[in-house]
Amino acid sequence: MSNQTKVLVTGAGGFIGHHLVTYLKRQGYWVRGVDIKHPEFAPTEADEFELLDLRRWDNCLQATRGVDEVYALAADMGGMGFISSHHSQILHNNALINIHTLDAARINGVKRYFYTSSACVYPEYLQEETDVTPLKEKDAYPAQPQDAYGWEKLITERLCIRYREDFGIETRIVRFHNIYGPLGPWEGGREKAPAALCRKVAGAKLTGNPEIEIWGDGKQTRSFCHIDDCLTGIYKLMRSDYHEPLNLGRDRMVTINQLADIIADIGGIEIVKKHVPGPQGVRGRNSDNSRLREVLGWEPEIPLEEGLAKTYAWIEEQVRARIESADDPSLAEAEMASSQVSERQPKSVERDPSVSGSQE
Ligand code: NAD
Repeated sequence: MSNQTKVLVTGAGGFIGHHLVTYLKRQGYWVRGVDIKHPEFAPTEADEFELLDLRRWDNCLQATRGVDEVYALAADMGGMGFISSHHSQILHNNALINIHTLDAARINGVKRYFYTSSACVYPEYLQEETDVTPLKEKDAYPAQPQDAYGWEKLITERLCIRYREDFGIETRIVRFHNIYGPLGPWEGGREKAPAALCRKVAGAKLTGNPEIEIWGDGKQTRSFCHIDDCLTGIYKLMRSDYHEPLNLGRDRMVTINQLADIIADIGGIEIVKKHVPGPQGVRGRNSDNSRLREVLGWEPEIPLEEGLAKTYAWIEEQVRARIESADDPSLAEAEMASSQVSERQPKSVERDPSVSGSQE
């Protein structure tokens, strides 16, 4: 038996979790992945992969057994369409997952615990203009997140801070700002803006219909961080001694219209934007990276155009395969270009009253 450090990655079947497993294996760790589903687009490299519903206390005890460190990424989440229309489900499921996973880690003697929070914790009142002031970590208070998703993240941040003070478990807390890249959701309702726009541009390219739908006027602003930068940041923060919440994102702000234009350039086509009603989230959001630079001596560096080129290439392949394999290719083509949120709910995240059982 080697003296390799053993880590658990929860949400290892999801976008960031899957990439993180690969990254940690390359760093020489023994990795257990846990999720309610296997990764969709490539086999996991985890040494052990367990299908467990982490809303359940007994499953959290099983997942955290015998590991030195935990990266807690499991969450019931998605893009703006999903987050703005599933408040109770998100608050209920994520509260159970996070409270149970952290406490099970404590009981099993885990030394370090990495929690993935979100820019969605920041108050709505600071994000009402497109030309928004970048958000500093301290701006999270007085609290007024837009959605239940953000409220739950804030509560778990507090829980991590308290567990460190009360029980000595070394918690680390990151606030991601729009992570994108290959091997992530790109259709079905849980995809984020970069993936959705890559799908629509690829659909437009492959069908010859240049029209793509954009939610709202497209002037809403965001910053976007490539998955490879995200993995470097996660690792640096986990190894650091910094235990307050920390932004992890890029600080180059673009409008959704600009994002669509960059992707269309990459796809090599002219697009016609059709602005349709749809959830847009806050009007503007950007990351202030001063603290990140100070704490880690580093910040994300992959240019948006470069990161999107890799992401687009992968999504165009998926769209082409989907259209070619469809019974009715014309229907598949129409779906690829539209904004419809026709979510395919994973069976195991359906409401199940048995999972809200007590902890002990
Ligand atoms: P994702 O949806 O791809 O991955 C989350 C994974 O958690 C999924 O595979 C899902 O099946 C799993 N999961 C859901 N319910 C579960 C349950 N009951 N038990 C076990 N597993 C369960 O999301 P992601 O983009 O990889 O995000 C990872 C983490 O980062 C999440 O906590 C998310 O809130 C946070 N985050 C992500 C972003 C982003 O831009 N991707 C931004 C802010 C925060």
